[in-house]
Amino acid sequence: MVRNVKFVEPAKVYRMIKDELDAAYFDVMEKGDLIDRGHLKSFEENLARFVGTKYAVGLNSGYDALHMSLRAAGVGPGDEVIVPAHTFVATASAVVNVGAKPVLVDVGKDFNINVDLIEEALTENTKAIIPVHLSGYMADMPRVMEIANKHNLVIVEDACQSLGSSIENDGSSNKNKKPGIGKVMAGAWGLTGCWSFYPFKILGGYGDGGAITTNDPKVALFARRMRYNGEDRETGEYHGHGFTCLLDNMQAAFLDIKLRYLPGWIIKRKKIAERYRQGLSDLTDLMLPHYDRPGFDHVYQNYTIRSKQGSEFSEYLEKNGVEVLTQFRKPYYKHEALQLEDKGFPETEALSREVCSLPMNVEITDEEVDYVISTVREFYRRK
Ligand SMILES: *Cc1c(COP(=O)(O)O)cnc(C)c1O
Repeated sequence: MVRNVKFVEPAKVYRMIKDELDAAYFDVMEKGDLIDRGHLKSFEENLARFVGTKYAVGLNSGYDALHMSLRAAGVGPGDEVIVPAHTFVATASAVVNVGAKPVLVDVGKDFNINVDLIEEALTENTKAIIPVHLSGYMADMPRVMEIANKHNLVIVEDACQSLGSSIENDGSSNKNKKPGIGKVMAGAWGLTGCWSFYPFKILGGYGDGGAITTNDPKVALFARRMRYNGEDRETGEYHGHGFTCLLDNMQAAFLDIKLRYLPGWIIKRKKIAERYRQGLSDLTDLMLPHYDRPGFDHVYQNYTIRSKQGSEFSEYLEKNGVEVLTQFRKPYYKHEALQLEDKGFPETEALSREVCSLPMNVEITDEEVDYVISTVREFYRRK
């Protein structure tokens, strides 16, 4: 009888692919290949191929990917950047840290930016939009691209939660044949796609990590130099005041292995989501993350439900041995020190009271998923 379900169990994933990870570790150690070596190059090539872009550049976090992208796009003081009101704080912090102003826009029922509200938030200073693909489900990119093309705005995709997700694109909002027709992956629509390999992301490393994907050779070159303090590694020339934010070769070696498992792991996540759907969809106080929008894929980085009972619900689960995540009870713009304007974002406020992410990972067993389902059902039976 299961009585304790963890949100994630990294040691269990390690045991699943221990032989390969250990071999990668010894390979890196024995070669002494620590900084900017073959494992990084290999991972970058495989990541770019997976996303369907020409380039991938490994960085040391998702935050750095966002920051680097804005720098590459020339966003700076005096510029405004549209960001969703419901996201991880790093999306907005990257904007602030290049000296620009984040302009927040409320989200819709799918937790992603409400595209109907974007145009009224634009001003003559708007330079870019950062659509965030939250939890494994993409923002409405065909419409975001349409708005960007109309107003000549840069798109930086915060795809940190959606590696492997995609949208069927009919091409009607394309400009200069971009981003292509048919299935277009997250991270292949904008100037850049930003990735995080934080351990609990869908492709997680063993420490911090990140990357950008792009089709623009100038952006890739800029990021390659700036991640290494502005230095061109071949000529030794400094091309600007840069940063130290390179993806470690060791992390790249681990990520390259895990990337090969990702397609299979996404299938597993979809099966778990389906098990949750079957077990919970009759509970009318719950809103489940199953959307019937044709062509929009969901890879379930997170299985975030909304419960009308909010914290009472999430606390009951925690007390009964189900580890959950409640990101975020307090929206980031309500944290005083960040000095962001709270214009009142009704959907973000409502979902903040109700969100609860259930355990969703590749290491979970069916018995554990069933225990989560029965614990949720028990909460509602008692009500
Ligand atoms: C994780 C995450 C980030 C930041 O990634 P780090 O690697 O932790 O810096 C940014 N945006 C979103 C939506 C994320 O989920």
